[in-house]
Amino acid sequence: MNSQYQHLVQKLEEISHLNGVMSTLGWDQEVVMPSGAGEARAKQMAALAGVIHERMTDPALGEGLYELANRHWQTLGADEQCNVREALRNYELETKVPKRLVQEMVELSSRGHEVWVKARQQNKFADFAPVLRRFLELKIAWAQCVAPESTPYDANIDLFERGTTMAVITPVFERLKQELIPLIGAIQQHAERVDASCLHGLFALDKQEALARKISSDIGFDFSQGRMDVSVHPFCGGSHPTDVRITTRYKENNFAESLYSIIHETGHALYEQGRPHHLGDLPITESLTMGIHESQSLFWERMIAQSKPFFRHYFGLIQQTFPDNFRDADADTLYRAVNHCKPDFIRVEADEVTYPLHVILRYEIEKGLFDGSMAVDDLPEIWNAFMQKYLGITPPNDTLGVLQDSHWSSGAFGYFPSYTLGAIYACQFYRAMLDELPAIEDEIAQGNFVPVKHWLNAKIHCHGKRFTPEVLVRQVTGEGLNPGHFINYLKTKYSEIYRLAL
Ligand code: ZN
Repeated sequence: MNSQYQHLVQKLEEISHLNGVMSTLGWDQEVVMPSGAGEARAKQMAALAGVIHERMTDPALGEGLYELANRHWQTLGADEQCNVREALRNYELETKVPKRLVQEMVELSSRGHEVWVKARQQNKFADFAPVLRRFLELKIAWAQCVAPESTPYDANIDLFERGTTMAVITPVFERLKQELIPLIGAIQQHAERVDASCLHGLFALDKQEALARKISSDIGFDFSQGRMDVSVHPFCGGSHPTDVRITTRYKENNFAESLYSIIHETGHALYEQGRPHHLGDLPITESLTMGIHESQSLFWERMIAQSKPFFRHYFGLIQQTFPDNFRDADADTLYRAVNHCKPDFIRVEADEVTYPLHVILRYEIEKGLFDGSMAVDDLPEIWNAFMQKYLGITPPNDTLGVLQDSHWSSGAFGYFPSYTLGAIYACQFYRAMLDELPAIEDEIAQGNFVPVKHWLNAKIHCHGKRFTPEVLVRQVTGEGLNPGHFINYLKTKYSEIYRLAL
């Protein structure tokens, strides 16, 4: 048996190394590759993807896994069981789907992206509709192959947020709607109470970058095992926990956007750098789900870096860095400015109060598309009606509405809920940390982030894929997914900022 498991380890580590190479190629493509190399790179990556697919669907791998799972399960330790369980899941996801279906999804994904880019530029939803319609058919067919026992939309959600279904998400989202729509309405009535004008102006790019590097390093990003670069869309990638690559973009007239995007990506990066890679390059060391990953980025971006203690520590440095912009401001002015709340059309630019409604709108549309109660052709009208109902605004065109996100162009249905689940988890984790480390906000106000990082390392990062999100959250917070804390956090924070009597 032992040799059989060792044999499996070898195969799984090889797959992990090949994925690391793929990831480095992807980073290179976004960050340093000359624009003329696109076609050649696409072929290189397709060739490598073919090799990885072959390794992942190798019948010998499958036989070994079934053997270990069915005949030797009890002789395996908990970590070994985790590796077998995860590898088996990946193997089944890859092998249960007919090759022509996989091929069509890959083809449609690259063509779909091009069609979407153009349709968005030209504000023509009708051009994108056929791609969306076909993807829906393919994703329903895909779901019937991989999880015939669940509904197709649940199977798609499961890909990003394991074990979380519509039965869990719908009541949580209903509660958020019930609480947040009136909160946003109340904030809107007193919008003038927050003056965000100090965020406008010119901010030298080199100073922005120096500040971003300093804060990222202060909160724990290890530059000896990671890099920070510039790309069109910020992301966190890299080939291994010892090689984590984050990116951002700098805009001369918007210092907060780049700063918060780098803190967000640093949160993702700390999770990656904190993975238990001493256990080998194996499934157990991987990050858990999209929602848990997002909880880590939002923990730093919102719970820490949009809090009063954070500005108590950093206001001086920010003022020194941009003296002309913040001459007349103080820590409280900046805190309030950064936290100003305003309904707008674009999800990625939304503040923490309105963001969940952008997600809920997409979730409800995806649910409707999968259960057949909504038709692709009606989406622009449905989208706009939801925006009006939830945020009180109607997009002037589809570019600022239904065409804004790339997710559907690659068939990523079921992804959006992870953003808001992440925000809820982040809040629950923060509360648990406060319970265990009551003086932590004083530490943050003094710029000591080490105990925060260590707490996250010990509670979340080091567990890799050992537990389900449900078990992990219960273990860290003493309860399961609970939107109540997130709602209380928002109500308390924003009624203070906008002086609301709730
Ligand atoms: Zn993120």
